[in-house]
Amino acid sequence: ASFSDLGLAEWAIQTCKELGMANPTAVQSHCIPKILSGRDVLGLAQTGSGKTAAFALPILHRLAEDPYGVFSLVITPTRELAYQLAEQFRALGSCLHLRCAVVVGGMDLLSQAKTLMGRPHVVIATPGRIKVLLENIDISHVFSKTKFLVLDEADRMLDVGFQEELRVVFKCLPKTRQTLLFSATMTSELQTLLELSANKAYFYEA
Ligand code: AMP
Repeated sequence: ASFSDLGLAEWAIQTCKELGMANPTAVQSHCIPKILSGRDVLGLAQTGSGKTAAFALPILHRLAEDPYGVFSLVITPTRELAYQLAEQFRALGSCLHLRCAVVVGGMDLLSQAKTLMGRPHVVIATPGRIKVLLENIDISHVFSKTKFLVLDEADRMLDVGFQEELRVVFKCLPKTRQTLLFSATMTSELQTLLELSANKAYFYEA
């Protein structure tokens, strides 16, 4: 398949070309059309498979059609991953006026709350910090129209015991959102999380 077969807008196809992404990877070919069609997705794919663009491209495609409030919340286990994800979102969304915020530990809570009040399109957060923000500062309304929740490296987050943090996040997001779960492995904790968070997810395994 080529990027033009997946249902993405012309600007997105052009951006991929400019970034040297000649053809979609397997996880991108399988997941992008499902995400564009509104399905929840559970993707079992390793780092290096192109999984970030597999969720970032359809999210940016939808965002370009209808920007509104915080559009997408992406949760990832570490600060380093959060910054890497933000970099990919910014590169893939370079021709949109994308406002992307990284919310991780080690920075001032109040200034992070202020950033969130500005309603960035994409918020990329670690579980611990987003939980603290949601519980201590009245920002729940900031997420009331969120269209996408992405749990990146979900197995790693569950391994280190972030179940409670993720539960807090689920509670603050609208039920009508799309949930996209990406994980290197399938575990019983992931199965439980899937039942809690997703709705008849399309299952992709590399
Ligand atoms: P990820 O699996 O998301 O960590 O991506 C690994 C790397 O592959 C990133 O540096 C991407 O820029 C790159 N990449 C993603 N999709 C493609 C593609 N379709 N063609 C070539 N490189 C890609």
